[in-house]
Amino acid sequence: MRVVEVRHRNVPLSRFAPVPAAPPGPAGGALATTVVALVSDVVRAGRPVVGYGFASVGRAPVGGLLDERFADRLLAAFDRPDADTGGDDGGTDDLDPFALWPHLMAGEKPGGHGERCVAVGCLDMALWDLAGKLAGEPVHHLLARRLGRPPRDGVRVYAAGGYRYPDVDPATDRRLLAEEVHRFLDLGHTHVKIKIADAPLATDLDRVDAALAVLGDGSRLAVDALNRYSGESLTTAADALAGRGLWWFEDPCDPLDLVALADLARSYPGPLAAGEALFSLPDARNLLRYGGLRPGHDRLVFDPVHCYGVPEYVRIVEEFERAGWTRDAFWPHGGHLFAVHVAAALGLGGAELAPLAFQPFGGPPDGVTVRDGLLALPQEPGIGFERRRALRDLFATLA
Ligand code: MG
Repeated sequence: MRVVEVRHRNVPLSRFAPVPAAPPGPAGGALATTVVALVSDVVRAGRPVVGYGFASVGRAPVGGLLDERFADRLLAAFDRPDADTGGDDGGTDDLDPFALWPHLMAGEKPGGHGERCVAVGCLDMALWDLAGKLAGEPVHHLLARRLGRPPRDGVRVYAAGGYRYPDVDPATDRRLLAEEVHRFLDLGHTHVKIKIADAPLATDLDRVDAALAVLGDGSRLAVDALNRYSGESLTTAADALAGRGLWWFEDPCDPLDLVALADLARSYPGPLAAGEALFSLPDARNLLRYGGLRPGHDRLVFDPVHCYGVPEYVRIVEEFERAGWTRDAFWPHGGHLFAVHVAAALGLGGAELAPLAFQPFGGPPDGVTVRDGLLALPQEPGIGFERRRALRDLFATLA
């Protein structure tokens, strides 16, 4: 088989939960992502088999990078006589994303990961969806089988959201936040992550305490500082958060300020989380060597899509394992079904889920309920994006 066409387009995203009481406002801080469709030459029931993916959330769209080099490189990979685009298990897999990955990276120089890693990860996601559909397997089964791991059909998830609403007074913002956390609990979640560090510390602490008042226990609440603290603001915030017994404190400082992170890890008693804004094995290795993170205590939130896709993500996991970390520490960023498949296949601690923000990408399939913080994975071939109607409709615009 071969991929005969790469279709893509950039789409806007909103950070904000569609809370009924939320005021109309900016559509979400000018975030956007890229959706991609890989059309294969395999025809089933009269239609080509198509793999869908997107560039996860939180970085810039990658349509330009796909146009400039990666889409043509993927298509050309199927022309190369040395390209092994088939599976290695006697033909059950018609498509092997691991074998295609080096062709996507052909000619790329070391370093300077920039955002090409997101473009490659976006194509990689769609390749896994296509590979699963061709093999008749859900991605978590296919990937687990390729890696020689036992399949897992349920994954621990937590609900991520809790962005500060723009253009509302602090009391309204706290009320909206509390409503959002209540909705997460109603949706079956046990653990929640909210954003901090885009307001004065006192405002942030009021928001943290508003979420804690709903959850009742700091061990069920993580906070994400979006890499925004530095110097004195970092130590002041960490001191204030330390007494609240939080589940974890994520992205406290600039992702490349490993000295600041290591200093913090020496003094902050609770778990830290980092890695979301590091996009390659060499970057992850620097975090491992110099970031001061503590195996058995801290968490790693690398995004499999943002760090060049599954092949590089697997290398990152294995690098940390060799240094004494366990897979329980990995909770991939993204908030979408693909990250959940990856967590299930690799036996990770769990995955982020965005049940309300970043629609239509975030959250479980329509009609599927998280139970006590556990999500049952879709069992249809591929990722199962089509089980979210709004997402199916969005991908259909590429058809
Ligand atoms: Mg984060």
